Amino acid sequence: MTRIAIIGSGTMGKGIAYVAALNGFSVAIYDINTESLSLAENYIQQELIKSEQRGYISREDINKSLERITFYSDLKSAVQDCDIAIEAVLEIMDVKIEVFQKLDELCPPGAILATNTSTMSPTEIGAQTSRPDKVIAMHFFNPVHKMKLIEIVRGLDTSKETVQFVKNLGAKMKKETVEVNEFPGFITSRMNCLIGNEAMNMLLEGVASAEDIDKAVNLGLNHPMGPLALADLVGLDTRLRNMEYLHQTLGEKYRPCPLLKKYVKAGKLGVKTGSGFFNYK
Ligand code: NAD
Repeated sequence: MTRIAIIGSGTMGKGIAYVAALNGFSVAIYDINTESLSLAENYIQQELIKSEQRGYISREDINKSLERITFYSDLKSAVQDCDIAIEAVLEIMDVKIEVFQKLDELCPPGAILATNTSTMSPTEIGAQTSRPDKVIAMHFFNPVHKMKLIEIVRGLDTSKETVQFVKNLGAKMKKETVEVNEFPGFITSRMNCLIGNEAMNMLLEGVASAEDIDKAVNLGLNHPMGPLALADLVGLDTRLRNMEYLHQTLGEKYRPCPLLKKYVKAGKLGVKTGSGFFNYK
C-alpha cells in the first residue's frame, strides 16, 4: 500500500486525505495547528457519512477509510516511512521552502515531495532540497472529492519517473491529470484568478450586485459556479496570496482588486469564516 503523508490539514489537506484514504492509500496527515487537525478529522468523518447516505459507499468503506488515516502533530512520525509527501500549507514561498527542507531531512531518501501550490514554482522549492528530481507540483482542486482534475507541474529538474509516479497516483485516486511545464499560475489558476479578479472589480465599480454577477456567469457563460462564490470557497486570504504572486510574476493585469484586500483585512475570508462576498452563517 502506497503511504501518503499530507502536510497541512486545512481546506485542501483534509480533502486530499479524505480522497486518498477512500481510495485505499495509507494516509498520515500533519499540521502545526492541533485545532486544524481535529477540524479535519471531523470533516472527513462527516464527508464519509454523507457519501454513505447518498449510497456511494458502504459502512465498511467508512470504517476502512478511517482506519487508514492517522493524524499527527509531530512531523517526523508523520513522514518517516512515506512514499510521497504532499504539502498543502499556506501559499507563502518562505513557508513552503521551510517545510520542504524539513521534509527533505525527515522523509525516506526515495520519497517524492509534492506541493499543492496553486501558482508557485516547484523548481524554486526543489532547488532548496537535495532531491530536486523528486519535487513536483500536484495541484488538486476544491472540493477535492468532487473535482476531477489534478494539474501536474514539472519543475526544471523533475524526473520522468516522478511525473509518472504522480500520474499513476492521480489515476488511483480516480482523477484526470494534465501535464504542465512550470509557469506561474499553471493553466487553471492563471485563468481563474483573472476571472475572479474581474468579477471583484465589477462589484467595486457598481456594475451589478454580487448575486447578479455570479448569476450572469453561471447561467450566461455556463460556469458551474459564479466567480465570487468560487473565491469564497477557495478562501479570500489564499486567493489574495495567489493574486499577489501572479501580480509579481506575470505583471499588471493580475493586480489584486482593492475589494479583495479589504475583505481579507476585515477577516471575511469566505466559507471558512462564514462570510465573504456572500454570507454562509
Ligand atoms: P488553509 O489556510 O485552509 O490551510 C493551511 C493549513 O496549513 C492550516 O491548517 C495551517 O495550520 C497549516 N500550516 C501552516 N503552516 C504550516 C506548517 N509549517 N506545517 C504544517 N502545517 C502548516 O489553506 P488551503 O486553502 O488548504 O491552501 C493550501 C495550499 O493549497 C495553498 O498552497 C493553496 O494555494 C493551495 N490550493 C488551495 C485551493 C483552495 O481552493 N483553497 C485549491 C488548490 C490549491
